[in-house]
Amino acid sequence: MLDFNALNASLVYPEDILHWAENAYHERLAVVTSFQITGIVTLHMMRELGLKVDVLTVDTELLFPETYDLMNRLQDTLKFNLIPVKAELNVSQQAAKYGDTLWSRDPDSCCQMRKVVPLDKALVGYDAWITGLRRDQSKTRSTIQAISWDKRNEKVKISPLVDWTEEMVWTYIHAYDLPYNPLHDKGYPTIGCWPCTQAVSDGGDLRAGRWVGTAKTECGIHL
Ligand code: SF4
Repeated sequence: MLDFNALNASLVYPEDILHWAENAYHERLAVVTSFQITGIVTLHMMRELGLKVDVLTVDTELLFPETYDLMNRLQDTLKFNLIPVKAELNVSQQAAKYGDTLWSRDPDSCCQMRKVVPLDKALVGYDAWITGLRRDQSKTRSTIQAISWDKRNEKVKISPLVDWTEEMVWTYIHAYDLPYNPLHDKGYPTIGCWPCTQAVSDGGDLRAGRWVGTAKTECGIHL
């Protein structure tokens, strides 16, 4: 088992963490991103560093059109190997089996079927995965470490920009003129599936627009 305390103490900068991860895991390393702002910075840094690893994205088939468009633009710009991860049932099949709009009645089950289980299955082929988690995103993420053990998947989980702020991420995106989701400019700090994502008022919690009206704060991938 890795000495996570020692690693986290010695690897401070995202570029160093990414280099370490690629050296340690090579083709057994994947980036998992939903093309939020931190993921975009991570993908750009990896290209600048010449690091090539698979890029997994969970496509629930319920993403905003703007997200699909961004995905294509980033792939054209950054030239990564994109692997869409999909649920066993498409949305129509899910509706036939569990009823329409499961997300409004039982979002935990919907996320489990459309996000958590498909990603867990996709990660079987890897030993480590890179995420875009940051401590400033929510209370539930305020104590995460850059390099940690993902107990559910039994893999190393790496969050290179864990201690960056939202402002730092935006500064990077604008400095390199990187494409980003236009919904951010319409009041959406984070963007998931369209049925479960709303715009928030200025100054609101970064994840306040997700699963509004429920106690749910995470899809389950990062629990
Ligand atoms: Fe279903 Fe909403 Fe979860 Fe997407 S975010 S998988 S629509 S519950």
